Amino acid sequence: MKIAVAREIEVCERRVALVPDLVGRLVKQGLEVWVEAGAGERAFFADAAYQAAGAKIIADSNQLWTQADILLKVSPPQEREDGRSEIDLLPEGSVLISFLNPLGNPVIAKQLAERKITALSMEMIPRTTRAQSMDALSSQASIAGYKAVLIAAAALPKYFPMLTTAAGTIAPAKVFVIGAGVAGLQAIATARRLGAVVEAFDIRPAVKEEVQSLGAKFVEVKLDEETTAAGGYAREISETSKQRTQETIAQHLKNADVVITTAQVPGKKAPLLVTPEMVAQMKPGSVIVDLAAEQGGNCACTDPGKDIVWNGVTIIGPINLPSSMPVHASQLYAKNITSLMQLLIREKTLHFDFADDIIDAACITHKGEIRSYRVQEALQAITSAVS
Ligand code: NAD
Repeated sequence: MKIAVAREIEVCERRVALVPDLVGRLVKQGLEVWVEAGAGERAFFADAAYQAAGAKIIADSNQLWTQADILLKVSPPQEREDGRSEIDLLPEGSVLISFLNPLGNPVIAKQLAERKITALSMEMIPRTTRAQSMDALSSQASIAGYKAVLIAAAALPKYFPMLTTAAGTIAPAKVFVIGAGVAGLQAIATARRLGAVVEAFDIRPAVKEEVQSLGAKFVEVKLDEETTAAGGYAREISETSKQRTQETIAQHLKNADVVITTAQVPGKKAPLLVTPEMVAQMKPGSVIVDLAAEQGGNCACTDPGKDIVWNGVTIIGPINLPSSMPVHASQLYAKNITSLMQLLIREKTLHFDFADDIIDAACITHKGEIRSYRVQEALQAITSAVS
């Protein structure tokens, strides 16, 4: 069985789906590993390192795509320079494992089903204890949270830590983190390590203890509705609750030097939490890093992919932050994807055991069908909107 690792063609994608350290493990299981020439280059993994680990380097991209049994990728398939879609290159019956964004772009699932490709979407791995080693959303979100704080610290015209010097005492920076999921918790931890005083807000009360255990203050808003959905994710909240949370957020923004926003609701546009009026009340020189920029932004002033200065406040809307730390992002992603493959491959043969909740949730297309109910719903919503 050939496991093929594609070179990412997306311009801002520096990660690679498999790293040399994990090739040996697959080769030992009797699997053939093909790596497209230069696939790991932008993450500093040389072809020679893959080769030394037992992989075969394939210079011809067409050969790699058209002969793969399992194709591993980071970003969803793209259209190539020659105008051909990567999806069209894959052989019928082959397996694609990648981030596919099937809830944001369900059309991709339709295309994969039509091509009879079995697709496993890394976003759809359940957030359960058993699936932890495969949880790529978490491994990559943690990098985003860490990097967001470093970006904010670099843009802030102030120190982060408290300093007592001969020239006077510097007060520590005040950081306000909105959304205390995986990215938010890592942002809190990183800001604390840099010496900032940190506050955090989330609509899920369950995160209070985690926030406090990292040395931050939890900003609590009592809401009269259930804010947690299945799987521990946040639910979209009512207009009344939104208003109440915004009033609290506004109070804390006024004192903050740095605001890191990370709030998301799966499959939905990111909730708008910071209005232009709220930004106008912030201190000049303060910095917002909006980690939800790709999903529409938590701040109304965010321009995805750009750094702007609005009313003296720097607003940064980074895109694909994990790709900016490609060594560790690739290493962790490769571990996630290899763990998933261990569930699928037994004695060099693929097994799709849909009684297994992880395979059932991750596998969005199989034998020409869109298997995922959520993806079907998302596709239906687009189709109805168009007609
Ligand atoms: P996410 O990226 O979907 O959202 C980020 C955070 O934004 C969440 O904490 C969410 O509650 C918060 N949020 C949403 N709307 C908000 C609003 N209006 N105002 C303020 N905050 C808002 O979250 P995630 O990091 O992907 O984590 C999702 C869930 O998965 C969490 O319950 C997390 O604990 C759980 N999880 C479990 C495991 C595991 O058990 N193995 C691993 C990782 C994550």
